[in-house]
Amino acid sequence: MLGENVTIASSEVVNDKLLGGLLTTGFDEQSCLSRYQSVLYRKASSHFPSAYLLERLREHEALQKKCGPHTESYKKAIEQLKAGQGAKVMECNYLVWVAYSGLGNRILTMASAFLYAILTRRVLLVDIDKGTADLFCEPFPETSWLLPPKFPIKQFKNFSNGSPESYGNMLKNKAIHSNPAFLYLHMAHDYSDYDKLFFCEDNQQYLRNIPWLILKSDNYFVPSLFLIPAYQEELTRLFPQRDSVFHHLGRYLFHPSNVVWGMVTRYYDSYLARADERLGIQIRVFDPEPGPFQHVLDQVLACTLKENLLPAINSKQPIVSTRHSRLKSVLITSLNSGYYEKIRSMYWEHPTTNGEMISFHQPSHEEHQNSDKKMHNMKAWAEIYLLSLSDVMVTSAWSTFGYVAQGLSGLRPWLLFKPENRIAPDPPCRQVLSMEPCFHAPHYYDCKAKRGADTGKFVPYVSHCEDMSWGLKLVDQSEW
Ligand code: GDP
Repeated sequence: MLGENVTIASSEVVNDKLLGGLLTTGFDEQSCLSRYQSVLYRKASSHFPSAYLLERLREHEALQKKCGPHTESYKKAIEQLKAGQGAKVMECNYLVWVAYSGLGNRILTMASAFLYAILTRRVLLVDIDKGTADLFCEPFPETSWLLPPKFPIKQFKNFSNGSPESYGNMLKNKAIHSNPAFLYLHMAHDYSDYDKLFFCEDNQQYLRNIPWLILKSDNYFVPSLFLIPAYQEELTRLFPQRDSVFHHLGRYLFHPSNVVWGMVTRYYDSYLARADERLGIQIRVFDPEPGPFQHVLDQVLACTLKENLLPAINSKQPIVSTRHSRLKSVLITSLNSGYYEKIRSMYWEHPTTNGEMISFHQPSHEEHQNSDKKMHNMKAWAEIYLLSLSDVMVTSAWSTFGYVAQGLSGLRPWLLFKPENRIAPDPPCRQVLSMEPCFHAPHYYDCKAKRGADTGKFVPYVSHCEDMSWGLKLVDQSEW
């Protein structure tokens, strides 16, 4: 009897460690401690991956292994790429992701590229620039997703909206050859209406015949994949809960490297582990001046007090007993230390009205974005991950840094609206409709009717974002 229980208990642990089957066994645990240790730091997700997603992930892992770098199939595909024109789609076709923009943007585009790779059965290879290998573990067993340095198209990092190799420019210049060996997909914020034809069914049919696609983006373009009829059925099977796409793909793909994991766990264990509740506040200010700004501080306080995320301070009484009270630990992330210092002082100088103890922590204040520097990127990733371990979260409008933390956590944070003219918005924040990131630069086009249209009105599960009226995000109506 006892033996049976033990078996059940240990199989539950194994199951948890694999995040409900999202992850697979077969990795060397020491080479990536975060993969199987995340379960010790993160609450179990209330969102379950579908059996079909698990099946497709295992199939995709097999494809990555069969066609990955140094395999015979890869060598053949590279030979074909070097030969140029006249290429034929073979067993193994590839999607090359180019490292571009800040870390939050990069994580969102890798996840988008991964979903596109699953849908089109392509092997995903990632550019090693901006420290990809220093930040993340390998996600696929017994192979590597890192693009080998000998990749023959050397100029791919410099491709831009003006490159003649881009699919958009080829369409514009009517220069589509029947079967080029590769195409460049320019999907960054400055992409043209021609580039955006990527989201039309006919163009997807054409792209299916190209063995190598090279993708540069700084956008989470997943919501628009849900508008392409050819993928709709598959996407519904993969994600019956539509707003869980990044949540599942993000937890599958992005495991902090051992160095970053050390930073995450040391910080968490030192400052956050003992709290009864953890509140994460991400303060991202899009202003040419560094700040700190009074209107931002006012907005953060207005939001956290109004939504009862922080207790009010008692400015009349000098002492409120805190001996047996709850401890709330607040993790603040920001490029600037001013907000943290001011809020922390406020709660030191005055007691809280409910006697709750509040501790404040900010791991770094880097002052400026510096996405080419290794330690800067590592700190950013560690902070995104720490935020995602919060029980409750406040994030900033327009920030992909915050979207990643929100998606990994599975929470619906309170989103601080973007201030205009340096005035704190009223209301200061609202809880988001779904944990999905917002696609900031979607196409506005009806591919069938061949005219402009509001793509946020096509299907009920792709709607406009809370923080950007023209953006698109996936929502799940069953939660309303
Ligand atoms: P977004 O610009 O907010 O959408 O997020 P990105 O992550 O794409 O780019 C902002 C970059 O600035 C980050 O990747 C970091 O390099 C840096 N950064 C912004 N906010 C923070 C922060 O709170 N902590 C740290 N360590 N870095 C930050």
